[in-house]
Order: sequence, then structure tokens, then C-alpha cells
Amino acid sequence: MLNKNINFPITVIKFGGSSVADADKIKNIAKIIKIKTEARLKAVVIVSAMGRSTNKLIELSKEMSEDPNARELDVLLSTGELVTSTLLSMHLNHLNIKTISLNGIQAGIRTDDKYGRAKIADIDTTRINRELKNNDVVVVAGFQGFSDRNDVTTLGRGGSDTTAVAMAAALKLKNCEIYTDVSGVYTADPRLCERAKPIERIGYEEMLELAITGAKVLHPRSIEVASFNNIDILVKNTFDPKAKGTIIQSESKMENINKVRGIAHQEKIGKITIKGIPDKPGIASSVFKPLSKENIPVDTIVQNSSSNNLTDVTFTVTTEDYQKAKIVAGSMIKKIGASEVTGTDDIGSVSVIGTGMTSTPGYAATMFEALSKENINIEIISTSEIRITCVIKKIRVNDAVNALHNAFKLDIE
Ligand code: ADP
Ligand code: ASP
Ligand code: MG
Repeated sequence: MLNKNINFPITVIKFGGSSVADADKIKNIAKIIKIKTEARLKAVVIVSAMGRSTNKLIELSKEMSEDPNARELDVLLSTGELVTSTLLSMHLNHLNIKTISLNGIQAGIRTDDKYGRAKIADIDTTRINRELKNNDVVVVAGFQGFSDRNDVTTLGRGGSDTTAVAMAAALKLKNCEIYTDVSGVYTADPRLCERAKPIERIGYEEMLELAITGAKVLHPRSIEVASFNNIDILVKNTFDPKAKGTIIQSESKMENINKVRGIAHQEKIGKITIKGIPDKPGIASSVFKPLSKENIPVDTIVQNSSSNNLTDVTFTVTTEDYQKAKIVAGSMIKKIGASEVTGTDDIGSVSVIGTGMTSTPGYAATMFEALSKENINIEIISTSEIRITCVIKKIRVNDAVNALHNAFKLDIE
């Protein structure tokens, strides 16, 4: 793809953690990069941290403090991606491919100042464009940027996908390639569901719902950025680069497919219920304001209809936020006149997604019937126009995904 500011074609390619998990794997991705440079493309290569190294850094930080300082944590986590970008650059140099690695600051990736979940504000491509003139490959450390105070920020778990798509947008490209450890976006997580099949094409809207409800193959924000900038994302398998993969693109470029497209699941959910709340205006606000002040994102919220002017409010959070959320909820009992707070963090969810659901009845009934046949109890139901989510016990998630995959016949083209 030709960038109008520079007169040579550029491609943006991203490799996830499992694709660069050890030295041999880093050498292996150099082969894919070489195919691009041999085709006379200049490549901006975005890399994630090696394997589980981000998790290991988080574990280390927890040994220093239960609640590590957010600024310091972001600097620490950003180092994972620096290890990969420098090693890859060294190996490309060794192969006589002209290259340089850049960290988030050097790559001009400016973000807001929300440590741990920063959003990219803009990318100043001056340095990258300059480096592209002198090199064939610019390796950029994913997942990181810098705030107005010049502090390092990170984009949230899985955020390197967003670095890649935002980089393609900043370089005015029409597409970007994301290499991972499976052959594209599947009808369900192939690790849980043997019969899952790669999806050839999927629109931004459906892909975003899949990602938000647990299909971690792409960072949700990467799809939003792709959709704003009309960038096609091609998801490919690093270990089987000949496999077709999945194209994520604007619905306008696709035929309308009137069926469920995929099943997503989550296994790390905590559920908290505040019981016996006096039912009067302002209650929801007094419950959720303290949680938002503590920077705890809340997912599904259900308020029961009141009896004797008392109501219960149930909400879900991630298991990482669960303990903190329970403490915050407990601390507001007195103020709002509630009777008690209960909770559990052994919860998961399954979602069925497809734009076809908008106009056709019966999808919900099929979903509930499939779960009931497996004797799976539904604790909370939530919906959007193109999604139905059931909150269930974590240990039943695997069975639920497989039952729904069969019920919606997703293994049949
Ligand atoms: P990377 O290290 O390349 O960023 P991730 O681990 O973040 O890779 O994402 C790839 C993983 O996402 C796959 O190994 C797969 O288990 C999981 N996954 C969950 N849902 C899906 C889905 N619908 N399609 C493909 N992969 C999925
Ligand atoms: N290394 C980060 C993570 O593990 C970012 C990424 O892989 O995209 O979440
Ligand atoms: Mg990822």
C-alpha cells in the first residue's frame, strides 16, 4: 500500500506474544518479514512481549506491593515489548535487513494518561517516516505510548493489536496484518471448541462484540480504530502463514449474512449483589459512582423489581477487580441503607453474536434451550441488538460454548 507522504509501499504487520515466545520463534517471524522486504515493501513491524512475560512482570510487581503504583507498573510492563523489539531488530540486522527498533515514545505514540488502559490520541509519524527512508524494517514495541507528561503508558492487556491498527491509520494505509497462533478468527475459541471453524470475512460490528465479550484474538479497541479509519485487518497464523485467515472489514464491503457468526466466552468474572437497597431515585448513581471513582469498570448490571420498596442490584466485574469492587460495595452499605453485600468470583459468560439476530426472532429461545438441555443454569441475561449474553458458572463455560456451537450449527458452512 502506498503512503502518499513517502514514495514507497509500506505494510504494517503485528506479531503477538505466542509468535515470539522464544529465540527460535523470533527468528521464525523474520522469515515472514523477509518475504515482505523481498517483495520491495517497507515494513513497520509491531511486536508483543515474549510469551507470558507480561504476566510474569505483573506477578513480580505483586511481590513488591498488592496494589502496585500505576505509573511504575506501566514502565515495568512496557519493558516486555522492548525485549522483543530489540531482539528482532538484532536478528534482522544479522540477516542483512536494514532495520531499527523504536519504543512507544520514539515511535510518536501519544496517549491519554490513564495508566494500564491508555487510549492512543495520535501518532506523530515524523520519526518513523524518517527511519523508513533509511531502513527496510522499523520494529515498534507494541502496547505502549506516552502521556502529555512524557510518562510511559500501556494500552491494556492485548493492546499491541491496537498499536498495529493505529499505526496503519497514522501511515494512511488501508490494511494491516495481525499474526497470531491460530488461523484467524474462529466461530468459537478453537482451544475450547474442537469443531470451531475459521471465519473468512467478518464486519467490524460483529467482531467488536465478539472481542468485547471475550474473543481475545483481537483487542476490542483495535477494531474500533479500524472501523473509524476503514482499515481492513487480516488475521493470520504465524505458524501456518499459507492458511487463509480472516478479513475484518466494513460491512458495506460484505454480503449480509443472516445467521449467528460466533460464540464468545469469558471465564474471569466476579458477580456482586447489594441486597435490600431502599428503592428511590439516585440509588444507581450512589452505587456506581464510587466504583467509577476507583476506576473499576462494571459490565452487566441488573436491578430487580422492588418488593416492599426494597431492591437488589447485581453487577459483574473482572476477577482482577473483584476483591476491590466488593470492598467498595461493602463500604457503601450504611450510606445507602442496604442490608448486605454478597459475591462470588467463580463466574463466566457465553455470548452468541450475529447481525442476523436483529430482525429474526427465535435466537434467544434456541440459546436458552441449548443451555437448559445441558442443565446449565443462567444467572443473568443481557442483550444488545446483535448479541445475547448469559452469565453462568465458570465451570460450565466449556460445555456451554460447545452446546451453542452445535445448536447454531456453526460447523456447517
Ligand atoms: P497473541 O499472542 O497473538 O496476541 P492472543 O493469545 O492474544 O494471541 O489471541 C489468540 C488466542 O485467542 C487464540 O490462541 C485463541 O485461544 C483465543 N481465541 C479466543 N476466541 C477466539 C476466536 N473466536 N477465534 C480465534 N481465537 C480465539
Ligand atoms: N504484552 C501485552 C499483553 O500480554 C500486550 C499484547 O500482547 O498485546 O497483554
Ligand atoms: Mg493478543
